[in-house]
Amino acid sequence: MDSIMEKPRSIPVLEKAQVLVVGGGPSGIAAALASARSGADTLLLERYGYFGGVITQVGIEAVAWYRHEGKVNEAGGILREMEDTALRMGASVKECQSDSQALDPEMFKYVCDQMLQQAGVRLLLDIYAVAAIVEDGLIRGIITESKSGRTAILADRVIDCTGDGDNMHLAGALYKKASRQDLMSVTELFSCRGVDTEQFTRYVQNDLNPTYRDWGGECWAQQSTGKEENLFSPYLEKPFVEARKRGDLVIDDPSTSIGGTWSTITPEGEVTQLNLVFMRNIDCTDVRDTTKAHLNGRRYCIEALRILREQVPGLQNARLRNFGMALGTRESHLLDGRYTLTKEDVFNQARFEDSIAIFPEFIDGRGYLVLSTNGRYYQIPYRALVPKNVDNLLVAGRCISGEPIAHTSFRNMSCCVATGQAAGTAAALSVQSHTTTADVHIPTLQQMLEAQGVRLR
Ligand SMILES: Cc1cc2nc3c(=O)[nH]c(=O)nc-3n(C[C@H](O)[C@H](O)[C@H](O)COP(=O)(O)OP(=O)(O)OC[C@H]3O[C@@H](n4cnc5c(N)ncnc54)[C@H](O)[C@@H]3O)c2cc1C
Repeated sequence: MDSIMEKPRSIPVLEKAQVLVVGGGPSGIAAALASARSGADTLLLERYGYFGGVITQVGIEAVAWYRHEGKVNEAGGILREMEDTALRMGASVKECQSDSQALDPEMFKYVCDQMLQQAGVRLLLDIYAVAAIVEDGLIRGIITESKSGRTAILADRVIDCTGDGDNMHLAGALYKKASRQDLMSVTELFSCRGVDTEQFTRYVQNDLNPTYRDWGGECWAQQSTGKEENLFSPYLEKPFVEARKRGDLVIDDPSTSIGGTWSTITPEGEVTQLNLVFMRNIDCTDVRDTTKAHLNGRRYCIEALRILREQVPGLQNARLRNFGMALGTRESHLLDGRYTLTKEDVFNQARFEDSIAIFPEFIDGRGYLVLSTNGRYYQIPYRALVPKNVDNLLVAGRCISGEPIAHTSFRNMSCCVATGQAAGTAAALSVQSHTTTADVHIPTLQQMLEAQGVRLR
């Protein structure tokens, strides 16, 4: 038997809201803040027990590492507010390669709680969206599972900020997904403690002296524009390359590579966000694949730590501090929306009448590394957030509508925050103006975003 028929059953309505935001990562936090501040009764739900998405679940700290010396044009808005609030609350330090903040993933959980509660967002944690309620082409709410059982949440507008686009595909909105072989790799992340930070820092400065040029080493073929090559990057691949040459590092899966970046060296003797294990051929919407990735990922992290302990000055006594709580997924479903951002758009400073934010020409993945140090930027059109065939549903974050190369740019957190802020504002505006989300008055939306400090041009 390959499938069974579930019996229809009556389920309680747990909550009602004008605007429901599903998923509390960078895009969801921004969507909920913007919606509530624009006057809509807003509910944000999250499957885990805290907000922050990849920041707090995986442990990724650098929200704007593209901000190098030179002119960088970016949207600002809630992303700047998050960085400023984190700094004020002691939840960040200066990021090591850029003019931005590295967030403390643990403390940032509390920062999110505070920001969201102060904005009057209603919150539900530990609750999973598992189905969508759609009638006559309009989304009416979602079905959830939690320790409270199977329940419905009814909403006038829904914003999908799940990263994987769970709601849009459950609602029957058109979407795309690359084949398993073509999806970006996933990462099991770890941090370590017990580091002699002075010795490690000396090793970095004197022996490694890493720049973005090193990214083109054995792990990835990397194409840049040249201006990136001499800039410092916290990149660590050499000990693994040498160990492999000696036959000391054996990776039994040819689609996995070891070598990548760290984020922060703390005064407490930690090296955090060791983003070293890259596993390909994993589809994060397939539970068998994610199980395999967790098990292999942890094994490879421990192997990487062994090499670091044996080869790297300052790390001889390093011990595992923690693994990421969730697998680091870079790519899965992408909306097939009213506009699809293209590679040409992100490389050629695209301009759109319905711009809802700008983002620097910053591309990281699929063989490209481009840092915008020269002021170049593209605009993001509202239509990239709007499904073709389901209305009153908006999509924000890494799963908006775009081609795979464009995705390697807009997947970055500050862009996810910008699309979240736009979606939240648009959803609130559509409630207030009695239009569907597809039909919001774009000049009014743009005025509202500019009043919130978002740069659209
Ligand atoms: C290993 C790794 C390293 C990265 N490094 C960087 C970096 O240095 N800088 C950078 O800017 N970007 C980086 N990125 C990319 C960036 O972190 C993500 O693209 C970004 O976090 C996406 O934001 P989001 O809000 O769309 O989704 P997410 O951050 O994934 O948040 C989605 C939220 O929705 C919740 N959720 C999911 N499904 C459901 C459901 N069905 N019901 C309820 N809740 C649900 C999740 O628990 C999560 O909290 C990295 C990504 C990875 C994986």
